[in-house]
Order: sequence, then structure tokens, then C-alpha cells
Amino acid sequence: MFEYAPAPESRDIVDIRPSYGLFINGEWVEPQGEERHKTVNPATEEVLAEVAWAGEADVDRAVQAAAKAFPVWSAMPGAERAKYLFRIARIIQERARELAVLETLDNGKPIRESRDVDLPLVAAHFFYYAGWADKLSYAGFGPDPRPLGVAGQVIPWNFPLLMLAWKIAPALACGNTVVLKPAETTPLTALAFAEICRQADLPPGVVNIVTGAGETGAALVNHPGVDKVAFTGSTEVGRLIARSLAGIRKKLTLELGGKAANIVFEDAPLDQAVEGIVNGIFFNQGHVCCAGSRLLVQESVAADLLEALKRRLGTLRLGDPLDKNTDIGAINSAEQLAKIRELSEAGEAEGAERWSPACPIPDRGYWFPPTVFTGVAQSHRIAREEIFGPVLSVLTFRTPAEAVEKANNTPYGLSAGVWTEKGSLMLWMASRLRAGVVWSNTFNRFDPTSPFGGYKESGYGREGGRHGLEAYLAV
Ligand code: NDP
Repeated sequence: MFEYAPAPESRDIVDIRPSYGLFINGEWVEPQGEERHKTVNPATEEVLAEVAWAGEADVDRAVQAAAKAFPVWSAMPGAERAKYLFRIARIIQERARELAVLETLDNGKPIRESRDVDLPLVAAHFFYYAGWADKLSYAGFGPDPRPLGVAGQVIPWNFPLLMLAWKIAPALACGNTVVLKPAETTPLTALAFAEICRQADLPPGVVNIVTGAGETGAALVNHPGVDKVAFTGSTEVGRLIARSLAGIRKKLTLELGGKAANIVFEDAPLDQAVEGIVNGIFFNQGHVCCAGSRLLVQESVAADLLEALKRRLGTLRLGDPLDKNTDIGAINSAEQLAKIRELSEAGEAEGAERWSPACPIPDRGYWFPPTVFTGVAQSHRIAREEIFGPVLSVLTFRTPAEAVEKANNTPYGLSAGVWTEKGSLMLWMASRLRAGVVWSNTFNRFDPTSPFGGYKESGYGREGGRHGLEAYLAV
């Protein structure tokens, strides 16, 4: 293995304020309550900034600002709205390096990922939906599709700016206005986005950002002035939201958890499959709702594949997320680390065999080494529950029918991957897997033109592509 000299990205490009207010009606305002929380760098536990905690009165102020902006924004010709979205997309590209460093500082993900995956996709989403803004009449939702009104959007911490883009870009393109709540551990890029809205001269009130905890999210989704709720996060909270909105007129999309199967057949190119497995579960420390957290490998090649996988994992570098050579960054929070540890210990206690490469762990911050469990039974918690960390559970199968049976044996249904050289087998599998996305000889590929969303307890509604417009239109 090569030795790498440190190659840290400079953090001088970001300018983090010591304290942030709420972004309401195009301005920074102070919350009514006194409460503030610190956001930390999970790689060092250093405090980055203090953010405001929005209470019900603040959420109400934000929703009212969005409601006031709605008549003007929705009546604007699509081509005019598109100009704002194109402008936002271009500013994101211009400030991509700064936003990538900020995301890495606040989230713990490697700079290589925030720079090469998150930020290009964020800009691409705004460009893509900017293109739809003046073509909504041709999107297949009737000759004159109308926006819904105020969208209340709640997002998680694993892809903070990318989830913001998935939510805000289609909402604005369709003529809705927005109140968005970022996750409590990763508010900084959403607050930087508020500045970008100002830079783009977006009319006041079209985008409002309220920071806070789960209660802030609950106040937003339950606010009577919100016409549409979009949520990405845990199935548990998704269920709460679905329950509280049942029977009322609010439109709801839920993007929830997953326990995806990454299925490798004996005829697959094994070296390529190893890369796909690594990308499937160790990308973004496994904090990915569609992560390939269950490896299903055909018994005849299981030993060879596992040997190659372990060899490959021995070359992954864990450490400073700002270092351009880092593959595995920090776990986003102490709570998430505790959850990953608890489930990994349950895996061992239930009889699975645990393996990690020799991997020095930094003294400060939240870290978990890449981990592989073999000898996993379908009944084990590590085969059933979303771990949301760099932990892979390996199961084997003999026939395609058994692979389908095992892959679908989960309450979730967000994604799956199939590795085989046979096109017929690929299609046979894809038509039987109960998953919203099925990747063929690849994994964790995203594109703004492709719809993304789940079956079963992974949620409902689609984000991305033409389908993603539907959630924001009265159709
Ligand atoms: P949550 O579902 O709790 O958080 C997602 C977002 O919802 C956050 O902004 C959160 O705020 C907010 N929220 C929390 N409670 C409520 C509520 N009652 N009403 C409205 N909004 C609310 O996920 P966690 O961050 O707690 O992570 C827990 C687990 O969820 C993870 O271990 C992982 O398994 C899974 N998860 C799945 C994701 C996915 O993409 N499928 C994404 C994130 C997590 P706040 O951050 O302030 O709590």
C-alpha cells in the first residue's frame, strides 16, 4: 500500500459566524426564545457556531412570510422563476469549494465526497428544475398545473445541502414557497444557502430557513398554513408525521429508511463488484438511506469475494475529513455513534462474526471503523434494522429465487443492487425486487433526472426527475 502525505483542504475559504439567527422573509431575525444550540465539527468536537432554536411563534412567522410571498411567486411566469433558479445554481457552482468545506466541517464527510458528489449534484438539481419551471404545462400533469402553496420541508443530516436541493429546487420551480428546517447537527450549509438566496435577489419570503430540533420540525409540519409537507429522515418520525397529517388536506411525501440488498451473482466481475460494495456501504460512512447494507452473495463465490473485499477495505483511509486522501470521515454525532455501536454489539451477541481492518482511530471526534459481519442470519438485528453507519452484513444465497426472497425480506424498500453479466437475469431480478431504485452493476448513483423513492416502510412519493414535480403541483 502507498503511503500518502497529508493533503488537507484549507478551511480559510469558509467564514463561519459565531452565531446565526433565523432566515425569515429575506432577513436574518432573532428568535423569540432565548434558546441557542452549538453545532460541532464531529471530527474534532470543536464548536463551529451557535444557531437559533425556532419555537412555534418563529415557525408561524416563517410560514406567514412564505404565505405572503406565494401570490407573487406563483403568478410569476415560469421563465422568470427559472432565471432565479439558474442564478442560484450558478452561485452554488461559484461557491462550490466553500460550500464543500463547510459541509465537511459540519457533517464529518470526506471532502472528496462533498466536493465531487454532493456539490455537483446540488448544482445539477437546481439547473435541472430551473429547466422545468417554464415547461410545467408539458410535464404530463394537465395543461395548467398549479402550485400548492407553502411547502414545509424537514431534512436530515446525512446530505444536508443535497437534501435541501432535492426539496427546494422542485418546490420553487413549480411556484411554491418554502419553509425548511435543517437537521439540528448540520444547519450550516442551509444557513449559507440563505445567503445565496439573498445574493440571487430571490424575492423575500420565497425561501425561509428555521433552525431547531425535532419540536421545530413538528411545529412546521403541523402548522395549519402549510399546504405540503416533504420529509426525509427516520421511519419512526415519518410514521409520526403521517399519523398527524392523516385525514387532512396537506399533501405529504416521505423519504424514509432502508436496508438495501446488494446482490452479487457468481458470474459478476468480482473486482468491480467489490468497488460497488465499498461504494454501497462505506460512502458517506454508511449514513445513506439507500446504502447497500446487506450484501447477498452467491455461495459459490462468497469466499473469493470476501477475501477481495477485506483486502480492499485494508486500503481505505479513515481520518481527517478535510484531507483529500480520506475515504472514511467522522460519524455525524455522538448519538449516531452510540447507535452504531449498540447495533454492532447486538450483531456479535447474536452470533455473527465481526471483522474490521487494522485502522487507527483519531483520539478526538466520533469514529467507527469499516466493519463487516459474516455468518449473519436473516433474524439478526443487523440484518433487519437500519444501522446508518459503515457496517455491512453479509448473507449468502444459492439461487436467484432465494436472492429475491431474502432481498425482499425487510419492511423497507428503497433500493437494491444486482451484479451479473446476464441481462436476462438482471431484468428478472429487477422486476421482482420490491425497491424504488434498482441499480445494475453499480450502486449509489444519483442523477436529478431520475426519480428516487421507496416502497413499503421506506416512504411514499418520488423526488427527482419529472416525477418529482408531481409532489409540488395540484394534480
Ligand atoms: P430523524 O428522523 O429524527 O430526523 C430527521 C429530521 O426530522 C431532522 O431535521 C429532525 O430534527 C426532524 N424531526 C425529528 N423529530 C421530528 C418530529 N416529531 N416532527 C418533525 N420533524 C422531526 O432522524 P435522526 O437524525 O434522529 O436519525 C435517527 C435515525 O434515522 C438514524 O439512525 C437513521 O437510521 C435514520 N435516518 C434515516 C435517514 C434517511 O435518509 N432515510 C436520514 C436520517 C436518519 P432534528 O435533527 O433536530 O432532530
